[in-house]
Amino acid sequence: MLFHKLAKVFEKVESKSGRLEMTGLLGELFREASPEEAERIAYIVEGELLPPYMGVDMGMGEKFVLQAIADGSGYSRKEVDKEFASLGDLGLVAEKLLSGKRQQSLHSEQLTIAYVYSALMRIAKASGHGSQDEKIKRLVELYHSAKPLEAKYITRFVLGQLRLGVGGPTILDALSFSEKGDKSLREDLDHAYNLCSDIGFVARRFKEHPHRMREFRIEVFKPIMPALAERLASPEEVVKKLGRCGVEQKYDGFRMMVHKKGGRVEIFSRRLERITPSFPDVVGEVEKLKADEIIFEGEALAFNEKEGRFYSFQETMHRRRKYGVEEASGKYPLHVYVFDLHYLGGKDWTGRTYLERRKELERIFPRGNLKLGEMKVVDSAAELQKLFDKALEMRLEGIIAKDLDAPYTAGKRKFAWIKLKKSYGKSVDTVDALIVGYYRGKGARAEFGFGGLLVAVYNEKKERFETIAKVGSGFTEEEMGKFAEELGKMRAKNAPADLDYRMEPDFWVKPKTVVEIAYDNITKSPVHTCGEEEGKGFALRFPRLVRVRDDKGPYDVTTVKEIRDMYREEAG
Ligand code: AMP
Repeated sequence: MLFHKLAKVFEKVESKSGRLEMTGLLGELFREASPEEAERIAYIVEGELLPPYMGVDMGMGEKFVLQAIADGSGYSRKEVDKEFASLGDLGLVAEKLLSGKRQQSLHSEQLTIAYVYSALMRIAKASGHGSQDEKIKRLVELYHSAKPLEAKYITRFVLGQLRLGVGGPTILDALSFSEKGDKSLREDLDHAYNLCSDIGFVARRFKEHPHRMREFRIEVFKPIMPALAERLASPEEVVKKLGRCGVEQKYDGFRMMVHKKGGRVEIFSRRLERITPSFPDVVGEVEKLKADEIIFEGEALAFNEKEGRFYSFQETMHRRRKYGVEEASGKYPLHVYVFDLHYLGGKDWTGRTYLERRKELERIFPRGNLKLGEMKVVDSAAELQKLFDKALEMRLEGIIAKDLDAPYTAGKRKFAWIKLKKSYGKSVDTVDALIVGYYRGKGARAEFGFGGLLVAVYNEKKERFETIAKVGSGFTEEEMGKFAEELGKMRAKNAPADLDYRMEPDFWVKPKTVVEIAYDNITKSPVHTCGEEEGKGFALRFPRLVRVRDDKGPYDVTTVKEIRDMYREEAG
């Protein structure tokens, strides 16, 4: 398939914001694609060459792309810089200047998707001494054969600025459309995607066997999308929902998924980043495990021996940053509280019940610093309350009640797990929200260049983000400076494509950073779109920043459904 076809779709997608139209356009492309092409299209649309946890990075800054455009077009660096200053987007610069290529290429040929993908991969893989020259050379080669429109999207891709606003959900919908003309295969596709977190792999398998996605099984070293917990306000509600359930303590640590096979160990974060190099202490413990092939999940936190208590999440992370990997591992070894089992001895355990998985965990753990938290089966609100109080006494966050019969609900928020946290039902609660834009500082804040954040939560039903607050307080001066600097680098021309908004910030940003926000109560407001009904959405009153949640990604933020429940709960 020619790359030009993909570029044409990008052009159309850019001018349309409707999810359905995007799905249709991509669906047509997938219909014509071979399994291998579908795999590559899926990655490229996401702005990646491989799933993010594989850590493939183009490693090319603006300076080098400017040089490549000059070399590829025959214009001088000065002329290219001038165009950049006036157009502000290197994709547009490449499109414009390469349309009047001054240097006619000797071997210009029609670009295929396979060719562009492998050329981009070669650019990404060039590393070490002389690699920048190598990257520029390869990009120039691509430019020589590229049509202007192709050059525009190749450039944006290389710079990580594709920003089509087409996320995983749209790609999965499009795959279903390509086969059935509707979304009927989406659930099966979700099942596969949640078990491997690899959109390209799923697209390829789907093209090979569209009706066998249900048979998809997990593989060691492909991270599984984490199961998410629902929240309820009281022990009574939990018991009403689950009846007899297993109760575990909720540790306020760092969620990790550990994979081991044949002597190799890999650790993934909740956001599916490969974090193995940062945790040699955990790797060492896992190596000692008798099980040779295993995937399990737990919450890691450092223990303060002197005071006999756990360090909080912030303290744990702070220590790691302050002392570096080696020293922190020795001084503040992590304890991992194992809470789930996904794979053992060649078998996928995610389909078995929680009780079965827990029993197996009890056979394997504890082992050294790989602990097993307590689990108690209860069937009354009074017993649950007792465990909750005990957890708070131990300075833990609360408890998680688990459905004894539920499988592991990868990537989903289901009532298989219900969390009961400290401040529920009281006036102070927190929400995890995505930063979509920020404000310029006014008055005393002008010097920081930062005056607050526009944040959004996730509407799981619509698969769109919706704004819920403008956060103007809770920042230290240091934080304001840091936000101005970091968000300044992430500025975007337009609002994220999957955001519904009415209020506009001074600057839109690439939607990546999650923050925890405290507030007084939830109200209705015409300026926010969260769960909007009759022109009014939910809004947080007196929102203030608690902390940045490095461990959470955009899809891990609080959902509109949770906000609606919290609003009802407040109303009594
Ligand atoms: P939250 O981040 O508030 O949505 O709560 C869910 C998180 O609690 C999970 O992502 C885990 O990181 C964490 N957690 C702590 N202890 C447990 C446990 N025993 N079982 C499951 N998750 C736990």
